[in-house]
Amino acid sequence: MAGRIQDRVAVITGGASGIGRACALRFAEEGADVVVADLDETRGLETVAAVTASGRRSTFVRTDTSREADCEALAEAAVAGFGHVDILVAAAGISHALYVSGQGTGEVGADREAAMLLNKPTEYWEKVMAVNLTGVMMTDRAIARRMVASGRPGSIINIASGAAKIPLPGAADYCVSKAGVWMLTKVLALEVARFQVRVNAIGPGFIETPMTEGMRADEERARAIVNSTPLGRLGLPIDIANTALFLASDESSFFTGEIIFPDGGLFTG
Ligand code: NAP
Repeated sequence: MAGRIQDRVAVITGGASGIGRACALRFAEEGADVVVADLDETRGLETVAAVTASGRRSTFVRTDTSREADCEALAEAAVAGFGHVDILVAAAGISHALYVSGQGTGEVGADREAAMLLNKPTEYWEKVMAVNLTGVMMTDRAIARRMVASGRPGSIINIASGAAKIPLPGAADYCVSKAGVWMLTKVLALEVARFQVRVNAIGPGFIETPMTEGMRADEERARAIVNSTPLGRLGLPIDIANTALFLASDESSFFTGEIIFPDGGLFTG
């Protein structure tokens, strides 16, 4: 039986870990070939191996999404290897300037007081913007250019955050970067709609990935978040991958410029 995105080509940044990896595996189950882009080659190749094990084509392109040349090279490599790009998931991101994926340094880091804007060095702010906002813009732009040139319809999915609408003390840079991604999504959506390229965003709540490892290690804090979540649990990467799959597929063909918040009701208001 044909999958929901059968034979489409997806580029996924941040595809070595967490939400990006879950999207890669879910998309492959539904028939897509996947270009995995990330800083981390070892874990990126693990994602590639899992995708190919499920019978789809996959390749890894080492990419620092905060570098314009890397974003353009990624788009070029995807087109050279697979002919065109139908889907982009821009999931590469950091929770704060010193975040290292998988090392328990998620959220605002160990020192909440140092993370407050009053104490935050400008270079920390700039690092988060460079990856989370400018990086998403440059990835979107590089892939959108190829989508438009191909004349095929496309779906771009930006991973924002619930932090795009809810201010989190200690995470001004993160919140502003994600709010920026939300607005970028809307503007780009209007600009490329005439080419049948759709652009939407996802604003996850707290999801069990390396990014929230530090938070989850603090039992009291994790319990407080679960208790404040109407659905009574943290999210799983598959929750976000299923949302991305909907936005990638034709089932969302009348969606553009939208953001969906899979957060168990946490940030509903
Ligand atoms: P994750 O497991 O840490 O995955 C993020 C991936 O992005 C890592 O593989 C990381 O590589 C990569 N990355 C970081 N900077 C990069 C760069 N400059 N260029 C290319 N790749 C880069 O975290 P995640 O939770 O899956 O996060 C994915 C996205 O979801 C992020 O944008 C995050 O802000 C967003 N999000 C997450 C949550 C949550 O609760 N987990 C909630 C809302 C939004 P390295 O390992 O090499 O650093």
